[in-house]
Amino acid sequence: MNAWQIEHQCPQCGAPVLLDETDRLLDCKFCRTRLFLTAPEGFRYVLPPPADTTARELLFLPYWRLKGTSYDCRSSGIVSRFVDTSTLALNATGLPRSLGVRPQAMKLKFRAAGQAGRFLEPGAPCREVVRTAAAQAAGGDGPQEFIGETVSLIHTPVYFDKNALCDAILKRPLPLPADRAGALAALLDAPAHPTAAVRFLPAQCPRCGWDLEGERDSLVLTCRNCQSAWAGRDDGWEEVAFRVLPTAAAPVFYLPFWRMQARLDGLEMRTFADLIRFANLPRVVTPAFAAAPVHFWSPAFKINPAQFLRWARQLTAAQPDGEGAAKFPEASRHPVTLPLSEAGESIRVTLANLVPNKRQALPLLKEIRVTVEEARLIYHPFLVGRSELLHESLRLTLDRAALAYGSQL
Ligand SMILES: [Zn+2]
Ligand SMILES: [Zn+2]
Repeated sequence: MNAWQIEHQCPQCGAPVLLDETDRLLDCKFCRTRLFLTAPEGFRYVLPPPADTTARELLFLPYWRLKGTSYDCRSSGIVSRFVDTSTLALNATGLPRSLGVRPQAMKLKFRAAGQAGRFLEPGAPCREVVRTAAAQAAGGDGPQEFIGETVSLIHTPVYFDKNALCDAILKRPLPLPADRAGALAALLDAPAHPTAAVRFLPAQCPRCGWDLEGERDSLVLTCRNCQSAWAGRDDGWEEVAFRVLPTAAAPVFYLPFWRMQARLDGLEMRTFADLIRFANLPRVVTPAFAAAPVHFWSPAFKINPAQFLRWARQLTAAQPDGEGAAKFPEASRHPVTLPLSEAGESIRVTLANLVPNKRQALPLLKEIRVTVEEARLIYHPFLVGRSELLHESLRLTLDRAALAYGSQL
């Protein structure tokens, strides 16, 4: 697994803090400050130039970094592929196309205001990068989705030396094309990229001021004092509706799932009865099912693609009750590491996974538009076994190692 580390300084006391790429909570051991990291336009990193190059005029080349799982729905089934790449974000020939393993070998820094050097603007927006990667993974006639992706921008330093462009980290000239002068002029003409520094939200409940709780990679933090859950947004905290399903068993561990109600343009799918007919589920359509709104389920945590598909499918087919207390249990909870926006992208994949006649349904599913209208975070109790967790009512197991693996994704 390609784990990156980012060196930063506590904004409160200046102490050095080392973050993993997936960390969202900066927890300073020195001054006890706890801050949630947000980046309005995605996280921007810099590969720090060596100290003996900082006297030079540095130019920073942009690379998009993309990590996530692509799901390609085919009539034979769903093909998933884990993507972890970096691509040069300039239309300049001759420059290295990718950063290779460099970000793993070095400690990155967040891009900060006032950093010396000229940072070049990426030539294509990151949405295009995601679209291209999804299209490359596509092979079938059904929908493709990229779920759980993170897109970040990394700038790497170069400088000019005796009319050559040198990699500032390796201190080696970069191979430039035959039209060297033209290539260099194009680089120098490229527009500068404005700073979009990382922002910090104090990890305090916006309602009652109590300390919010969460793991370092949690996207949703919780307040034990007023029993509320909060997702960090760029401009502040947004409340997340949640329920905890009841259990009499012990010991249990809670896993978070998103339960979504969505509008599907191009497919009649409002009620559980609609889903039973569409997916040919072995259930009898009762008046109650014809009146019950259909809910789409997705894990709210990162896990390997096979498990992700399985849980989204099983819970959506079972339509479990989402009622319970809006009160956090004493037992441990797994952090929310998959945001609702990504969970919403799983809906078409789940439908493709459920439908028996894929050949017929896939072209239709490719065309529909999904809008999540309402969502809740539902904590499901799992019985704790030696190496697995058992869903109490569905009697399905989940390997505990798969959860640990998922937290690296
Ligand atoms: Zn501090
Ligand atoms: Zn509170």
